[in-house]
Amino acid sequence: MIDVEQLGWRSELVGELDHRLLKAPSVKLRSARENPGGSALYCVDLRVRRPNAGEYLSDTELHSVEHFLLEGLQRLLPEHFVSVGIMGCQTGFYLVFADEGRAERICAVLEQILRGMQDATAVPYACIEQCGNYRNHSLERARAVAREILTRRTDWLDAA
Ligand SMILES: [Zn+2]
Repeated sequence: MIDVEQLGWRSELVGELDHRLLKAPSVKLRSARENPGGSALYCVDLRVRRPNAGEYLSDTELHSVEHFLLEGLQRLLPEHFVSVGIMGCQTGFYLVFADEGRAERICAVLEQILRGMQDATAVPYACIEQCGNYRNHSLERARAVAREILTRRTDWLDAA
């Protein structure tokens, strides 16, 4: 049994919540699953914009930030990072980790990636060999979204 409070998450915010209550930008544990072999999977929502508030991320913003998250999480959590995906509702990202579910560790790594983006000179993997829509990127817009997420850094875990 995984003790989510021990990992730094408020247990009442874990799982599926009424989307009308969600705050953003925020970092929220969606699920924690212990596998029979003893390893654990953690699904985390990085919510950038409030749901149904008419403030959706553009496809270009989602795409470029996704590339930065992919590069950064592979580099900084190579043993634990499993995958990143964009939310179809255009309000954030799904992150999956194996055997790393500590809220502050995950937040610290995300902060490092978002801060590092401010010094980046290009969107990672934005080339024809590594991306399925390589022209649809914006370094400037990705950086702006990163700054927006960072403005609420101290309250990220206050997700609803
Ligand atoms: Zn791509």
